Formats: sequence, structure tokens, C-alpha cells
Amino acid sequence: MVNTTSPNKSCNILPGPKMGLVTPEYLETVAAMVRKHAIPMLKITSAQRLAIGGHSPEAAAEIWKELGLPEGPQNPLGTHSIQACPGVQWCKRGQLDSLLLGGKLEKAVAPITLPVKTKLGVSGCGMNCCESFVRDVGLFGKKKGWTLVFGGNAGGRPRIGEVIAEGLTDDQAVELARSCLTAYAAGARPRERSARFMERVGVDAFRRAVLRE
Ligand code: SF4
Repeated sequence: MVNTTSPNKSCNILPGPKMGLVTPEYLETVAAMVRKHAIPMLKITSAQRLAIGGHSPEAAAEIWKELGLPEGPQNPLGTHSIQACPGVQWCKRGQLDSLLLGGKLEKAVAPITLPVKTKLGVSGCGMNCCESFVRDVGLFGKKKGWTLVFGGNAGGRPRIGEVIAEGLTDDQAVELARSCLTAYAAGARPRERSARFMERVGVDAFRRAVLRE
């Protein structure tokens, strides 16, 4: 997403919003900011974030400020994105509250420094609208609790993640996600995605480590 028309206007920033949730005020602020800086590229990404592109580094600093956010990313090797579907709050199929869990996960895992960009997807039911099986950490809700999947990837070498545990409460799901990411961070090679890490380490050894079986 690089503007090739001017070398000074090649910046692209991703200032949220978290889990794709917006308010009228946020949208009005974005609209005013886009007009003010004559932003040529405004896009909603596949990770439910807003990409604002084609501006100068100086404008980027102003945009962060105008959106009321600290200049980012705060932790370049932290969690890349957390997607969450409407879940039980807003979807008739929802079994569990994916938006609530997404918020809890964000607080718990954001400080962890990871080997490379890492994506989380939280789906409120087994329909898996947030593609939880192809996220580094995926969760989906069932009547009996959350299922946690680890090591998925939807990129050039796609991989279906493995189920690590089922029937988890919110707190257990957050704690296990944190354990999985901590174990991955400790054992992965530089820039090794979780999918490749799991192929190398094996799900049984990984499960034993994170579940302390
Ligand atoms: S995963 Fe389930 S709860 Fe979430 S949007 Fe899809 S159907 Fe609805």
C-alpha cells in the first residue's frame, strides 16, 4: 500500500479501530482528517482495521494526534491484530461473547514481544466468521466454552491450526492464549511464524508445554 506518485507521500498507518468497532464520533473525526490531509487511500483491511495511506511522515504524526492515539505501533513485534465477530451480543448464532473476549485478550497479550507479526481471531460460534483456524491464535465459542486453536495461517503456505483445549471459560481462554504466545516467543526462531513453529515442534510437545500435562 505505497503511493508511488511521490516519494514523500508513501506513509501508511493502521490506527485501529479495535476489532472493527467504530462510533459516529470516530467516523466523523476520520472523515475530517482525511479531508484536511487530502488522504488518497482510506481502506478497511481484512484485519478489521483502517489503513490510512499516501501521506507524509509529518502528516502521519498529526493524524495519530488528531485521532487521539499515541503514535504507533506501540510494540512492532507484538500482536498484529485481533479480530472479533459480533458474537452473542449481536448475532443470532452467537454462543459466546467474542467482543468481550477480544477486549480481554488485547489487554493480556499486547505486551508480549513476539518473533514476527501474530494475528488473533475470535469467533462467537463454530461458524468461525473470524477464521479462527487460520489465525496464529484462534478461538471460537461453543455452548460448553471456548475452543482455542494455535498455529494457523492463511498466507502463501496456509495451515489449519491445532485445537489445544476446549470448554474454556473467558479467564481460562485468556490465560491459555498468553501461555501459548509466551511458549511460542521463547521457542521460535527469529521471524518464524507460529504455523512453521508448530510444524517443527509438533502439537503434542507444544500441548504438553502449555497445558503442563
Ligand atoms: S462466528 Fe458465529 S457468532 Fe460470529 S458472526 Fe459468525 S455466525 Fe455470528
